Amino acid sequence: MTRIAIFNQKGGVGKTTTTLNLAGAFHRQQHQVALLDFDPQAHLTSIYKHIGLDHHKHLFHFYQSDVPLAQLMQPVRAEMMLLSANAELMKVDSHFGRGPIILKKLNHGLNVLSETHPDTDIFIDCCPYVGVISLNAVFASDLIIIPVSSDYFSINSAVKVEKALRALEPVLKRRIERRYLLTRADKRKKMTVEVEQEMRRLFGREVLVTKISENIALAESPRIGKNVFDYDAGSPGARDYMALYFELQDVSKQLPEKAVAVA
Ligand code: ADP
Ligand code: MG
Repeated sequence: MTRIAIFNQKGGVGKTTTTLNLAGAFHRQQHQVALLDFDPQAHLTSIYKHIGLDHHKHLFHFYQSDVPLAQLMQPVRAEMMLLSANAELMKVDSHFGRGPIILKKLNHGLNVLSETHPDTDIFIDCCPYVGVISLNAVFASDLIIIPVSSDYFSINSAVKVEKALRALEPVLKRRIERRYLLTRADKRKKMTVEVEQEMRRLFGREVLVTKISENIALAESPRIGKNVFDYDAGSPGARDYMALYFELQDVSKQLPEKAVAVA
């Protein structure tokens, strides 16, 4: 079970797009995948609303009533599950505080899930703030992917994420493996080139080689409830997310303990 959290405190950088399509790429490569919606705005969940989701099954029950994750996940197609979100997730911070038990709760929940679903890879669409649920996602994951859209404000947000992760490392007593992913890249734009140069200067090898281009198929596909591979497998967006899949196979070899499973 590989666990990847997609995190950035900034909204609109491509977290949900990356969760949907990176999981889609793994699925295309014959992996069993689970998409976990950890954002009370529930954008990822809404992409799959057309399949008739059971509204009684959602992530808040895991926090509120200790319902096992396996009972809350819903199949969206063969070998693909979704753990849906709703606005109640906003209550997690105020209800449960920030003690060590709650901060490790997802890690524990995924350990239990891995007993029955050892071959399922986990993709977590984090919310755009540092609270209990995003800390849970960071603490439970092997790798954090930080999408950074190709505009100047995004560099500031990447620096903030880096500071937040560094502050958490002593708490976790391990390095938090992370990679920055440039999204919405348009190589004709000077800004894209400058943002990439600055990101590589600041974060070096932690910036992924793969970049996600600005692509209409990536913007349109969620609206009709599809990932980009089902919408247009020949699109630049599909090509980029598949390239990301292959790059992550190499990244997995650099990770200290658990590796990203190879197909
Ligand atoms: P976040 O989850 O970080 O808030 P989203 O993934 O929802 O960001 O992306 C914000 C908006 O940008 C969405 O409308 C999405 O369709 C669009 N978008 C994201 N990445 C791309 C891309 N590479 N090309 C075109 N549109 C994109
Ligand atoms: Mg989102």
